[in-house]
Amino acid sequence: MSTAKETPLDSLLKRFQIAADHLKASDKVRKTLEVPEKIVQVNLPVTLDNGKTEVFNAFRVVHSTVLGPSKGGIRYSLDVDQNEVQALAGWMTLKCAVVDLPYGGGKGGITIDPKKYSVNELERITRAYARSMRDVFGVDKDVPAPDMNTSGREMAWIVDEFSRIRGQQEPGVITGKPLQLGGSKGREAATGRGVMTTAMCAMKKLGWDPKATKAAVQGFGNVGSFAAKLLAEKGVTVVAISDVTGAYYNENGLDIPAAFNYARTNKSLEGFTGGKKISNEELLALDVQLLAPCALQDVITEKNAANIKAKLIVEGANGPVAASADAILDSKGIVIVPDILANAGGVTISYFEWVQNRLGHYWTEDEVNSKGDPKMEAAFEEVWAASKQYNCNMRIAAYIVGIRRVAAGIELKGIY
Ligand code: NAD
Repeated sequence: MSTAKETPLDSLLKRFQIAADHLKASDKVRKTLEVPEKIVQVNLPVTLDNGKTEVFNAFRVVHSTVLGPSKGGIRYSLDVDQNEVQALAGWMTLKCAVVDLPYGGGKGGITIDPKKYSVNELERITRAYARSMRDVFGVDKDVPAPDMNTSGREMAWIVDEFSRIRGQQEPGVITGKPLQLGGSKGREAATGRGVMTTAMCAMKKLGWDPKATKAAVQGFGNVGSFAAKLLAEKGVTVVAISDVTGAYYNENGLDIPAAFNYARTNKSLEGFTGGKKISNEELLALDVQLLAPCALQDVITEKNAANIKAKLIVEGANGPVAASADAILDSKGIVIVPDILANAGGVTISYFEWVQNRLGHYWTEDEVNSKGDPKMEAAFEEVWAASKQYNCNMRIAAYIVGIRRVAAGIELKGIY
């Protein structure tokens, strides 16, 4: 969510101040939310396969526990530093509040290029991280999840390590677990499903017929592939999709189920013959009504914002529109469903995973979706209404809804 000059934390705080000004938020609310509650930084010495020891720098930031235990993923990347983790934790507070989950926000990470380590080394590093965070994590304290370069595999190691330390089963200490270890049905598709649901809500507000709408989806991983598949199932003509190998375009619409199966089998879209190959940059500038960037951050910046022809952008990825592009897109009248709303379907189903773990009773995928879809629709309605009430774009409106909910919690608790 940053430009070259702006750190992720600058970007968060800038938008936070605008929303707080709209809300006329109290000094207490501003000061409480501008900083995290807790920053834990640890050094993890781990023995590698060659017998040598390497020390890994790792973090967990608890931004807020006003509305409940802090919730947020664990990222493995060389970019992980305190500034990034702190900003990501703050966004989690807002994201959870926008979808009205009984959670605060947190985030964690290890500064590491995971590709350079064996599976055994990654397991030792992950277990060392879980051990070092044994007093931070907890089913009613801080509940992590996967993020960039982590998945169900790491969640399984963490839940096992934490349960061993506690001497009892602790499935609710982490979400995004494999189904066999207490994961939730519907979690895999959840974020893409939320992108589809919020896109459908926006199309309805704009008076568009989904069957007469053309869409381009950037990224065909977890978020993008399900977003494209589910949009196509709703009758939207998906004319372009892409991944790191390039973009694939057919002006009459791609066969999305075929692309979905192709990507599953081949682990990428490379060689997919259902569309003409174009670049990712060309995909962003296609003459479509709906654009769903679901890959990376900062793909739309002040450099290419003027080329965007879509009238609706639904941010499946975190931070695909740099702050420097906001004003240009606003001036073109483009409606943006911001990341903290559009991709909140994942954390919503994570919440349902935690609920099921606590109940010891597991729901069908239909049950999960029948609880998740209305939550996303209600959040969309609330953000849309705030954008009208405060005469601002949907991004600032989402911050307003998030801050308003946490602010109410701060004022009600009243003790600080
Ligand atoms: P993923 O790794 O499954 O997929 C990423 C996709 O982006 C892949 O298709 C990859 O090929 C493509 N990609 C990578 N580099 C690219 C490039 N230079 N140009 C075009 N495409 C490129 O990741 P994901 O889980 O789908 O996450 C995508 C985004 O959504 C990230 O910003 C992530 O933070 C965000 N997000 C994910 C979830 C979730 O539940 N998975 C939840 C919230 C937000």
